[in-house]
Amino acid sequence: MKTIGVLTSGGDAPGMNAAIRAVVRCGIYNGLTVKGIKRGYQGLIDDEIEDMTLSSVGDIIQRGGTILRTARSAEFKTKEGRAKAAEVLKKHGIEGLVIIGGDGSFRGAQLLSNEHGVNTIGIPGTIDNDIPCTDYTIGFDTACNTAIDAINKIRDTATSHERANIIEVMGRNAGYIALYAGLAGGAEIIIIPEVKFDIDEVCDKISYGIKRGKLHHIIVLAEGVMSGLELSKMIQERLPKLDLRHTTLGHIQRGGAPSVMDRIIASQMGSRAVELLLENKSQRIISIRNNQIVDDDIDTALAMRKEFNFKLYELSKILSI
Ligand code: ATP
Repeated sequence: MKTIGVLTSGGDAPGMNAAIRAVVRCGIYNGLTVKGIKRGYQGLIDDEIEDMTLSSVGDIIQRGGTILRTARSAEFKTKEGRAKAAEVLKKHGIEGLVIIGGDGSFRGAQLLSNEHGVNTIGIPGTIDNDIPCTDYTIGFDTACNTAIDAINKIRDTATSHERANIIEVMGRNAGYIALYAGLAGGAEIIIIPEVKFDIDEVCDKISYGIKRGKLHHIIVLAEGVMSGLELSKMIQERLPKLDLRHTTLGHIQRGGAPSVMDRIIASQMGSRAVELLLENKSQRIISIRNNQIVDDDIDTALAMRKEFNFKLYELSKILSI
């Protein structure tokens, strides 16, 4: 293996830059030529490729986003699109491709490998933490810290005004950001897609809290359940006198300087990706499980099911009585 490529795909996540940096620096350290592919699979099809040097990844470890940019590519979902992508890889002599992205990006990688024999390694990068094979994805920890920061600020003003606040967080169809940020932020109520939601139970809990003298109510809502506005309407129908506001955190959760944890995981995963390619291993997804960097065959990794941490959810309920 002499030349490898790296791209970021799907939604961006803080720490992707740290992963790119690790792939480039470890690749060059091991005598490889490393090419950066811009705008994910679409950039690959469009031949947006440049040589990476040690300095092209300088001063990026602390930056959110991705210097390679990212994209969603409908063309890559077609057989013709993937054939074009494989041609471009061949033209540049890229023998191994590192894909930093989510589930969808890995499915794309799987097809590219199966159809054209491209050597691929996947690194999980998404704030949603919804990739089954890994305990944590790059960006999740930073997104939770951003959410916590917002919850702390909202709590200050909620307490002053004795208000209830709904804070809608991201996570797509998964409730990980809501669960972690809710537990760490001391939320009274956490509403996530993994647990059946009962509006009467939510309102009873708020009423009980008011009776026992609580000055604020923080309700953390995962976007996968409903919007903050919808939930607000449902609660106000039942508790019309409640002073209730809602805040949608939105894309601030996708940006910002990556946390220490995200930078360390990203650096380790980027380095492991290069090691695997040098060991002539491919079609693998890198993960962190029980604090160890591990890798699985892409088919196995994509067939895994994530077990939701219901114990953590139960704990959040106990701690918020
Ligand atoms: P995130 O979860 O952060 O949004 P993701 O990688 O799951 O990241 P997707 O938009 O699902 O994001 O996928 C990124 C790109 O990967 C798509 O735009 C498409 O080009 C490619 N891709 C996704 N699914 C497939 C598939 N089934 N077959 C081929 N390519 C795919």
